[in-house]
Amino acid sequence: MIRRMKVVGLGDVPRGLLEAAASRAATIFGLETLLGEVLAEPSYAFNAARGKFHAAAILRKLTRVREDGELVLGVGTFDLFDPDEDAVIADGDRDERTAVLGTARLTAPDPARTLERASHAAVVAVGKALGLRECHDPRCGMATISQPDTLDRRSGKLCQSCEVAYSKGDRAWAR
Ligand SMILES: [Zn+2]
Repeated sequence: MIRRMKVVGLGDVPRGLLEAAASRAATIFGLETLLGEVLAEPSYAFNAARGKFHAAAILRKLTRVREDGELVLGVGTFDLFDPDEDAVIADGDRDERTAVLGTARLTAPDPARTLERASHAAVVAVGKALGLRECHDPRCGMATISQPDTLDRRSGKLCQSCEVAYSKGDRAWAR
């Protein structure tokens, strides 16, 4: 059972952003938070043609700093992609127990809103690392992030079915 979330900056990331990213996910999933070491910007995952970083490559690499009983959330201020999805904000891998957040597209005129969006988006990344799927309920914390401004409408909680899926824990993965 995962009880702790280690948050690591990927490159030069403001501490306030790391704390915001961790805050809501920690509350929703009942995780203890630890601010981990700062890692270098993940140049190994950079795709020059897209000008973005490959989410899955970062998720794999983050396992190197993960310890037993914890998941790792990496936060960068860049854009992410996956080969079948041009723009990715948050992603997580339930087998690796790692999550990644790229905040480049979350910037709002009001800095407080930017942090709020980061906190909502991290819930999706961390939820996926815990074995949850993205959700169709637009108010749910696990709702698919289509556009950054949809994050502003989230309730900050899981819907009932995601709550049930999470409380079942690892057994839910088998389905
Ligand atoms: Zn849901």
